[in-house]
Amino acid sequence: MPTVLFAAPALWDEYRPSLIAAFARTGLAVDLVQEAAPEAVDYIIYAPSAPLQDFTPYRRCKAVLSLWAGVERIVGNATLTQPLCRMVDPGLTEGMVEWVVGHALRHHLGMDRHIVNPERVWDPTCPPLARERPVAMLGMGALGTACAQALRALNFPVTGWSRTAKAVEGIPCLHGEAGLAEALAGAGIVVTLLPKTAETENLLDAARFAQMKRGVVILNPGRGAIIDDAALLAALESGQVAHATLDVFRVEPLPKDHPFWAHPRVTVTPHIAADTRPSSSAFVIAENIRRGEAGEPFVNLVDRLRGY
Ligand code: NAP
Repeated sequence: MPTVLFAAPALWDEYRPSLIAAFARTGLAVDLVQEAAPEAVDYIIYAPSAPLQDFTPYRRCKAVLSLWAGVERIVGNATLTQPLCRMVDPGLTEGMVEWVVGHALRHHLGMDRHIVNPERVWDPTCPPLARERPVAMLGMGALGTACAQALRALNFPVTGWSRTAKAVEGIPCLHGEAGLAEALAGAGIVVTLLPKTAETENLLDAARFAQMKRGVVILNPGRGAIIDDAALLAALESGQVAHATLDVFRVEPLPKDHPFWAHPRVTVTPHIAADTRPSSSAFVIAENIRRGEAGEPFVNLVDRLRGY
């Protein structure tokens, strides 16, 4: 019976019942524990915030299964030589789709004008249709693709952008430097769902903001480091960027004196766009362990060199 170490102590009570149910559903008998001798451990369920940082003694471990979708805090850990699987959870994806669609519609419909209107201004300007507001989706992975499809279903013309070429029905997909310029140029809303890697850090800098259409709205639920904060503030000041809704930051919690908090055209949400949901993610983990035990390849494997 494989020993599965749950190495995210703060989440044990929340995850334990779901994992027990998921292993039962998968038909897999496991010893699910919070503590074990490292040499007896076959799989590690892991959160990057957990105390376990040295994987060296876990010589028998066949895979480390992250509860998080973003793996930038683990991927560079030199002691982690076992396969690393990131989280692709239907519940997390659902949450991200809701956050992105909700914030896109807020800006698209100009809701703020009516929700906060102390002067009681009767402004009958009708918003354009979604079909008239192009969206650029930077990152077309598990989350970006789901969000792009949801926005497309509402008629937003969505253009996807990723590292490698992609084919997604109904969504033109671009890649590379020229593809990025093309995706940004036409967009009224730019959404970033990229991982933090050496290549994506500061991707949205002054030059890239200048390539965008004047009055663009930025939604960033990806990672804070993808945006150059100073360049964004300058682009907001000049009116090049009309509004930025940000869920992720270089330092979290966002320091109280950070200019984003006070800026009238920045909305800060506290890294709540999408959380891994125990009930759905437990099955993803159990299924990956079943695959490992059956000698099948793991899914959602992280490429260490790529960094995601
Ligand atoms: P994913 O499936 O690995 O997709 C990543 C996408 O980014 C892929 O399309 C990939 O291109 C693209 N990409 C990576 N490097 C690139 C580069 N240098 N240039 C262009 N495109 C590049 O990841 P995911 O599950 O969709 O998650 C995306 C990110 O969302 C996570 O890494 C995490 O940072 C963030 N996230 C945030 C929250 C939150 O609550 N705010 C929650 C979960 C996740 P290819 O397809 O060509 O490989």
